[in-house]
Amino acid sequence: MDILTVGVIGAGQMGNGIAQVLAQAGYQVLLCDKNNLALDKAITSVDKNLNYLLNKNLISQSDKERSLSRISCHQDLTSMADCDLVIEAIIENEKIKCELFKQLDEVCKAECILASNTSSISISKLASVTQRPNRVIGIHFMNPVPQMKLVEVIPALQTDADIFVSCYALVKKLNKTPVKVEDMPGFAANRILIPMINEAIFCLHEGIASAREIDTISQLGMNHKMGPLALADLIGLDTCLSIMEVLYEGFKDSKYRPCPLLVQMVNAGRLGRKTSHGFYQYLDGKAQG
Ligand code: NAD
Repeated sequence: MDILTVGVIGAGQMGNGIAQVLAQAGYQVLLCDKNNLALDKAITSVDKNLNYLLNKNLISQSDKERSLSRISCHQDLTSMADCDLVIEAIIENEKIKCELFKQLDEVCKAECILASNTSSISISKLASVTQRPNRVIGIHFMNPVPQMKLVEVIPALQTDADIFVSCYALVKKLNKTPVKVEDMPGFAANRILIPMINEAIFCLHEGIASAREIDTISQLGMNHKMGPLALADLIGLDTCLSIMEVLYEGFKDSKYRPCPLLVQMVNAGRLGRKTSHGFYQYLDGKAQG
């Protein structure tokens, strides 16, 4: 099927990146968030990212203007009615996502594909709350979306083969590398990454080394571009905790228990970069100290 118009629900750090790469690839993008401020921030962020590409001569001024003109902002889900594909990127919470999928199922045309950018939640479960489980799929982008090449494409148990093929092809059109992954808790990327981050938080919790030292060990000892604690701050500690909880619940294996320090930090509202305070403190987006 032809996908021309794409809805993106949730204009947070993932949603705005997804909207940007879709618009750059020529899709009409309807970006929807219940919070008007998030929409304003999202457009500012896309503008900033496109300016960066412009200054590096990677795109022209008219490329930038065309991309921006393809993105419209909305607060009402009914605006998704004529989309060919809707990608949801709201909070990582199964109950809230299921509620959204039920609503999308009611407002979107019958042919519309409903996709989730969830980091860990069962796509088969999200599919099951709709009347079109065969048209539901996971399209899991990495953060930051404009820079990261990998996209996990996750068919639910119920997904039709042609829906998978259409979404796999769309990811390629975004100049990304799709990888098919089975619908198991955390899929593949976060099954590997988030327990490693959780273990780094245990190291901090047990006083084995400071946050800065733990990140230095990963960067210089394992050649990681970013240390696990700086990466946790980028992902959002609330999202990291939700993923650990999905892994723990899904596998019933104690190796996935979230570190108590991670739980405590989320309880305290220290969610990382998005609240300017996580394992590091941030001023104007830069880690201090
Ligand atoms: P975020 O907190 O930055 O943004 C979420 C946005 O969704 C907010 O702007 C919020 O206002 C909006 N929202 C919440 N409920 C809504 C609703 N019912 N309708 C409309 N808008 C709603 O979160 P994020 O980091 O962008 O993560 C979004 C999703 O992407 C999550 O499922 C997360 O697991 C996944 N994800 C995150 C990362 C990451 O590194 N942060 C990477 C890959 C996937």
